[in-house]
Amino acid sequence: MALKLYNTMGHKLEEFKPINEGFCGFYGCGPTVYNYAHIGNLRAYVFLDTLDRTLRYLGYNIKHVMNVTDIGHLSGDADDGDDKMLKTAKERGQSVLEIADFYTKAFYNDIDRLNIRRPDVVCKATEHVQEMIDLIKRIEANGHTYMAGGNLYYDVTTYPDYGKLANLNLDELKAGAGKRDVVVVDENKRNPYDFVLWFTKSKFEDQALTWDSPWGRGYPGWHIECSAMSMKYLGEHFDIHTGGIDHIPIHHTNEIAQSEGATGKKWVNYWMHNEFLVVAKPKGADGNAEAGKMSKSSGNFLTLQVLIDKGYDALDYRFFLLGGHYRSQLAFSWDAMDSAKNSRKALVKRVAAILAECGYTDGKMPEKLTGLAGELAGSGWSEAAKAHLDKFQAAIEDDLSTPKALSELQVTIKDAAVPAEEKLRIVAAMDFVLGFNLIETAAKLSAEVSAAPAAGGTGDSEIDALVAERNEAKKNKNWARADEIRNILKEKGIVLIDTPQGTTWKKEQA
Ligand code: AMP
Ligand code: ZN
Repeated sequence: MALKLYNTMGHKLEEFKPINEGFCGFYGCGPTVYNYAHIGNLRAYVFLDTLDRTLRYLGYNIKHVMNVTDIGHLSGDADDGDDKMLKTAKERGQSVLEIADFYTKAFYNDIDRLNIRRPDVVCKATEHVQEMIDLIKRIEANGHTYMAGGNLYYDVTTYPDYGKLANLNLDELKAGAGKRDVVVVDENKRNPYDFVLWFTKSKFEDQALTWDSPWGRGYPGWHIECSAMSMKYLGEHFDIHTGGIDHIPIHHTNEIAQSEGATGKKWVNYWMHNEFLVVAKPKGADGNAEAGKMSKSSGNFLTLQVLIDKGYDALDYRFFLLGGHYRSQLAFSWDAMDSAKNSRKALVKRVAAILAECGYTDGKMPEKLTGLAGELAGSGWSEAAKAHLDKFQAAIEDDLSTPKALSELQVTIKDAAVPAEEKLRIVAAMDFVLGFNLIETAAKLSAEVSAAPAAGGTGDSEIDALVAERNEAKKNKNWARADEIRNILKEKGIVLIDTPQGTTWKKEQA
């Protein structure tokens, strides 16, 4: 079996071949921290986390690097509009760094709740301006730049491969007939697709954060941060670079021109992009979503906290996302969230029942089920188990097909040919990639129902008799009597819990 990934550069599925055997270095474009991440942005990080988990499951050592943009990102990706950070800072009467700090913490809170592993390196743009200046100097030395109106521009005509990621044709672009729209014309640009590497005399005279540079005091353009920081932490040639599809025509196209313009050689081997989360329909009077693209800058977006406030778990949203392939558009709706919530709940219940069957009822993750993924290969699985694990691996190796992987997990859990103990090990292994914290969540649930009467009952003959009578009433569909008995027992401090295996009980917490 071999891992295949869809490479935007070349637009086809390719077998993943790492630069250094057994190791994968990758960089994902991170958040611009001027507002909360919306649930569309969070799709990008769940996708990145799936890549991270898959590579580790397959035995790769990895270095996962992500930036935090806390300077230089204008509301248009192509140098137009306001500076996003500065605008929020002004509106709130706070400093840019205060805004960045607040929303970076909020971002961490979101990714933690979604069970996204934190990248190995998270790097802030404001802490790497020297690296950006050094890189711009190399780009300049190679003849790719010009000064105009106080800003330093990248001249895209000096880089023959400009636009190859997005299949843009520079001649068409020059003629203004390309696939990329230029909204605002900057008169200083020789070509509309040139972009700023360093701003000095920008329209933002009151830019709060500025640095000295060979081109005057100012601040960097947005794209240069990703080139500079990725190279600092991963070297001048690394394996994978990711982001949302909106980054293909401008941000990543410009990143390539900068990086390869500086080094004169190939920069990244595989480019991976997640499709958008789109909003299907608003629900209810307070639904603040409109049909179409979710966007931070327009204020039309849902946050993870809104979902949680409506009674969903963050992992329900993760479940919803993984039910779609990262390269397909996914339509958000409350109905889809309900369905994800119910399916996740059913999955946890099934795993809880298997835990109980195996006698794990103390509410803790059984020790032998931790850290399973690494030891998967050749670890004495039964034939039935091996077949499921192979299918699962084939799914994730097929360009991270989480819908197929998820359905294989569901099939495995129901397969009577796989012994219960082994099933738990499989669940732990598959969940290493899917990231639902299944065993942990199920262990808590199974502890709740663990006060189930043992073979001999509760030891209290009156309670045992009532539980038995209620079971009988349920069997006869005498729901009124069943409810009556539930209430009688409740008064005695006994709470009944209906599980797929029958009714159990627990003492009510004081
Ligand atoms: P930003 O914080 O705006 O720089 O965006 C962070 C990440 O979210 C980028 O990789 C974007 O491409 C991605 N992104 C933005 N909007 C969406 C969306 N609606 N669905 C999926 N990804 C998105
Ligand atoms: Zn980037």
